[in-house]
Amino acid sequence: MSARAPQGVLELAADVRARRTNAVAAAEQALARLEKSRGALNAVLAVDRDGALARARELDRRSASGTDVGPLAGVPFALKANMCLAGVEANCASRVLAGYKPPYTATFVQRLLDAGANPIAITNMDEFAMGSSGENSAYGTTKNPWDLARTPGGSSSGSAALVAAGVVPFALGSDTGGSVRQPAALSNLAGYKPTYGRISRYGLIAFASSLDQVSPFARSVADVELVTRTMCGHDERDTTSLPEPAFDAAPDADSLRGLRIGVPDEYFPATLDAAVRARTEEALAVLERAGAQLVRVSLPHSEHAIATYYVVATAEASSNLARYDGVRYGPRAAGDGSLQSMYAATRAQGFGDEVKRRILLGTYVLSSGYYDAWYRRALKVRTLLLRDFERAFERCDIVAGPTSPTAAFKLGEKSDDPVAMYLSDVLTVPASLAGLPALSLPCGFVADGASRLPIGLQLIGPARADARVLALGRHYQKLTAFHGELAPLAHEVAA
Ligand code: GLN
Repeated sequence: MSARAPQGVLELAADVRARRTNAVAAAEQALARLEKSRGALNAVLAVDRDGALARARELDRRSASGTDVGPLAGVPFALKANMCLAGVEANCASRVLAGYKPPYTATFVQRLLDAGANPIAITNMDEFAMGSSGENSAYGTTKNPWDLARTPGGSSSGSAALVAAGVVPFALGSDTGGSVRQPAALSNLAGYKPTYGRISRYGLIAFASSLDQVSPFARSVADVELVTRTMCGHDERDTTSLPEPAFDAAPDADSLRGLRIGVPDEYFPATLDAAVRARTEEALAVLERAGAQLVRVSLPHSEHAIATYYVVATAEASSNLARYDGVRYGPRAAGDGSLQSMYAATRAQGFGDEVKRRILLGTYVLSSGYYDAWYRRALKVRTLLLRDFERAFERCDIVAGPTSPTAAFKLGEKSDDPVAMYLSDVLTVPASLAGLPALSLPCGFVADGASRLPIGLQLIGPARADARVLALGRHYQKLTAFHGELAPLAHEVAA
């Protein structure tokens, strides 16, 4: 492991609490690294320098007077641009929300603030979280710190890139169909989508409400677990949030004896990229040597997951995005003076191509005459996908497979082919449709020309088994060192 590895959340918070460093120093270091990496990455849309330094000074003042400043004391972090921190622009990387400063703070952000964490920046993303590469942002593409000609993954592109570049120890993304797990895989990070409902969506700007889930990135699974547990628990402002409090972390196990890991045939098709297959199989072998039993399982409806996702998610998006009409948020276009043409001109100018494509598709599948053929049928297939998992979990405790069908692809490689882009999510959307907890974590590298590109392992658990999934991830990280390896840009930024 590199001696220059940036501190993780746990170590940094402990250092701030023990006053080996202070919150102001931690914030200043993150802000300096952010500026150093800014040109190369284009990962950031807004920086809250004054707010971050003011919060840090207040934390240091309270800590100096003996107050417990919380488990995340002074830890700088970044938020995706679809998350609300009062007064800081959250434009979803869309022109339609340019200049929008939310008047309130999301519940999950408030819980992090209450635990002492310190938001410093708002990160770039695919517009309204629609995309898998960051290329759908209205504010330019984010680059991957492992190879600046490649995507860091998407849609939470900027949050992944900032953590991979060592700017902040953790960052938040949102995962609707894989937007945290896939960039985690492409950027050598842990990315965790909790069970649907674990984390309140109040203050997360909606894309597809039955799928959206706030999800953190960090280097280690222990860190994403700490951040997740801090954010979760019931919130009366989100009726879909689970009624129970945060889950407890499962204790470390000495071995994996007794744990059955299901390996779905469908996640290892003959066409799977050779390096992705090899690294995933090596990871499974590590778990087997640690005592786990590998069992073959089948998730027979997986081949329908992408089609189902793109009906359900676009239907919900078409409804959620109807509110951007030039009346309540963001810039307003004039049109010819009539109300209708003001709406049309605002939306025509405000939304990018991918968002328009999805609004059209979603409106179509919900329209009378097509609703039964498309939307209702997709809901039925969604239930079949859930049953696939329930059946698999009769024979195993956790399902494991690759996160992304390929390592990081080149910017521009798929941007003209929406269907090729949609297929990057083939391994992540099933857990989203089923609402299940799913973790991606580093499991090795592949050499591609001069680049060394990370590969991710995905672990999926039954609903509410968050603690089980994360405990297995922590165990794997005790046996492997991939997550300690830093991107070339992280070395430069830390120098
Ligand atoms: N890439 C998927 C999409 O474009 C997933 C997005 C997400 O999880 N926000 O919809």
